Amino acid sequence: MESYIKLSTLNDFIFCPKSIYYHNLYDSYDKSMYQEEVQIAWTIAHESIDQKTYSTRKSVLQWLSVYSEEWGIAGKIDLFYISEWKLVERKNKIDKIYQGYKYQLWWQMICLQEMWYKVEELAFYSMQDNKTYRINKPKFEEIEKFKEIISRYKKFDLLQPNWSQNNQKCLKCIYKELCDCYIWEVYPQLSLFE
Ligand code: SF4
Repeated sequence: MESYIKLSTLNDFIFCPKSIYYHNLYDSYDKSMYQEEVQIAWTIAHESIDQKTYSTRKSVLQWLSVYSEEWGIAGKIDLFYISEWKLVERKNKIDKIYQGYKYQLWWQMICLQEMWYKVEELAFYSMQDNKTYRINKPKFEEIEKFKEIISRYKKFDLLQPNWSQNNQKCLKCIYKELCDCYIWEVYPQLSLFE
C-alpha cells in the first residue's frame, strides 16, 4: 500500500523538522507534561471537534479524513460547511496568519477537491476573540512551492551537521524545554559540560 505523508507532519516540518521527532515521541505521553497553557486551552477547545460534537447539522462535516493520491498526503479537516463549500480550521487564538497556517488549509483543500468536494471559501477561526480570517486559494507559485516542501521533507536528514533552527521559532516552540537546540543555541550560557 502507498504510504502517505500526514498533514500534521508537514505542518510540523514547516515549523521545524525536529519538532516531528518530539511530536511523535511525546504523542503517547500525558500532554500536560509538555504542553504550555495556550496549547492545552486549544486542545480543550478542539475536543468538541475531535468528538464531533461541535455541530449536529448534517451539512457540517467534522474531523473528516481526507487524502490526496496525487500529492501523497493525508490527514483530517476540522470543519467543512457543505452548503457554503467552506473549509474552516479553528485555533484557540490567532495573533498572526503565518504562511505555515495557510499551507495547512491549502493542503486540506487539495485533498477535499481530489475527493470531489467543491471548496469555495477557506477561513481560520480564532476562538478566544471570535475572529474569522478568510484565506485566499493558493496561486500557481504557491502550489509549486508544495512540491518543493514535499521534496525537502523527503530528503531532510536531521543529523546533517550544518542544520540549525531559527532561535525565534525555538522561543515559541512547545517542545523547547525538551530540545537540545533550545538549550544549547538559545541559552548556550546554560551549558553544563563546559
Ligand atoms: S526548540 Fe527549536 S529546534 Fe527544537 S523542536 Fe522546537 S523549534 Fe525545533
